[in-house]
Amino acid sequence: MQSENKQRVGIIGGGIMGVTLAYRLSQRGYDVTLYERGSQLGGLASYFMYDGQRIDRFYHTILSSDMSMHGLIQESGVGEKVHFTATKQGFYDKGKIYPFNTPVDLMSFPPLSLIQRFRLGLQIVYAQFESDWRTIDRIPVQDWLMKVSGRKVYDKVWQPLLRAKFDTLSGDVPATYIWSRLKRMMGTRQGVTSKEMMSYLEDGYYTLIEALEKHCLERGVVFKLNTAIDKLEIENSKVSGVRLADGSVDPQDMVISTLHSPGLAALLPDGFADFKTKLAKQEYLGVLCPLVIMDRKLTPYYVINITDASIPFTAVVETTNLVDPAHVKNNHLVYLPKYVAPDNEMMQWPDEQVRTEWMRTFKQMFPDVQDSWIKDFIVQRARYVEPIRPINTLDDIPDIVTPIDGLYMGNTVMIYPDLGNGEAVTRFADRIIATIP
Ligand SMILES: Cc1cc2nc3c(=O)[nH]c(=O)nc-3n(C[C@H](O)[C@H](O)[C@H](O)COP(=O)(O)OP(=O)(O)OC[C@H]3O[C@@H](n4cnc5c(N)ncnc54)[C@H](O)[C@@H]3O)c2cc1C
Repeated sequence: MQSENKQRVGIIGGGIMGVTLAYRLSQRGYDVTLYERGSQLGGLASYFMYDGQRIDRFYHTILSSDMSMHGLIQESGVGEKVHFTATKQGFYDKGKIYPFNTPVDLMSFPPLSLIQRFRLGLQIVYAQFESDWRTIDRIPVQDWLMKVSGRKVYDKVWQPLLRAKFDTLSGDVPATYIWSRLKRMMGTRQGVTSKEMMSYLEDGYYTLIEALEKHCLERGVVFKLNTAIDKLEIENSKVSGVRLADGSVDPQDMVISTLHSPGLAALLPDGFADFKTKLAKQEYLGVLCPLVIMDRKLTPYYVINITDASIPFTAVVETTNLVDPAHVKNNHLVYLPKYVAPDNEMMQWPDEQVRTEWMRTFKQMFPDVQDSWIKDFIVQRARYVEPIRPINTLDDIPDIVTPIDGLYMGNTVMIYPDLGNGEAVTRFADRIIATIP
């Protein structure tokens, strides 16, 4: 529905959040300009070219329960590019990979005793019935897990999973995090067989961004790539525009920032000390995410979680067990991620050092793999990925409406208790649209 509203809106950041906002605002008749620092749209969901084919920089799956995302995909006209696959999960423990998909797998999971398996299953069921996340947000994750799972299951299963996701910071995390993750993952299970259904977009996640961009361009949205915003222009506590790195100013009636919180803090001029402090102190984990490109299949699993702390990466994500290899030029894509705390020096390692460390352990895990099967090893990294929300800090979450008139914000800190993913981000974009005048 097109209105006569011709307010000028500047959107800062061209990731999924920014592009979804541009699409929705252009539908409503706003005069939209989107500023993206990088040379392509997509942010964490961007791509690189390999063998003439788009490859996601980071693995991206769309769960069958991601209703907002599937709705946007249909609406933007690329619904025929979605493909569903029943995927499998595994667990790597003491040199062996165990299937970890169905209740039967759980009940015969060798690293745990019968009673421990039962307690693990109970924890998963228990999470589905917990609805008061504000209460469990005050409970440290280990206390919540140990109460139902017990110490041994915690040490064997949960603690390594927490380490995988939070590096050294898992002690600060509330129960909400695992609760949210268990709820999301169970949403993909179908029927009594508990088959896990996931989907992907042919030619990568960028297929959606590209489709949204096309609609935006038809409605006159201006995309300024390679354009970092340097500062916000503010007059009498009201935003009046954005200053670009070359010093020029674009006047705007309204600005929506989709940057991570410290990124927005850096754009604020002098003053607004409380707001600036609130944004700047928000911590994020980064990710170091090498991709091994192989000429053949490695395992049957989409993801293998790793419990062994001596292995530098924390999962093996073989996306070509979800994505048809024919859609990526018959390459086989194996991502080996490691989430890193802000002070983890690994993030600064040169690519060659990452390769040496990663491949040494990769070969221990998969001794049959021949060097000739490996076509490439490409290191991807991102500094601001997973917001860290310590226990009892809900008041630190900023609002969409900021203390500066005309300035609105949205980022993955604010989608809490949901996890940072495309589904939650697109849903949050709709909340922003419902909030702005
Ligand atoms: C390893 C990994 C795996 C993931 N797996 C999944 C998955 O399976 N499924 C799923 O749904 N999600 C997944 N995600 C999460 C998903 O990628 C993110 O939730 C989503 O992309 C966040 O989008 P965003 O627009 O909020 O932020 P971003 O993508 O970070 O976008 C912010 C943009 O702002 C730009 N920017 C920064 N500073 C400036 C400036 N000063 N001026 C202009 N522009 C600026 C940046 O360049 C960037 O493009 C994964 C992420 C990672 C890292």
